[in-house]
Amino acid sequence: MSTPTTDARRVGANRSTPCPAWCKFSEAQHEEYDKGEPWLHGSESNGFFTFWQLDGGPITATLDESVGDNVDLTIDRLRELAQASLRAVEWIEAHQ
Ligand SMILES: [Zn+2]
Repeated sequence: MSTPTTDARRVGANRSTPCPAWCKFSEAQHEEYDKGEPWLHGSESNGFFTFWQLDGGPITATLDESVGDNVDLTIDRLRELAQASLRAVEWIEAHQ
């Protein structure tokens, strides 16, 4: 009997689609949170963004609350956000 891969272990008994490698949730967490619905995969935050993907859907990015919501950004912070946004686009393109 072969040892299952990490992703294979994370495929639920009635699922054929594994979590993407970047998903932070366990199968048990998906079964608890998603309750028979398509799984919503989520990444760890990279300090600016958290990435999400509903089974079969596009990968999207949510701006972290720590970056701010309706706040004024200094030019340095705005430059960091712009650079992080470009890196987020490149990360999504590399993982879709
Ligand atoms: Zn997942």
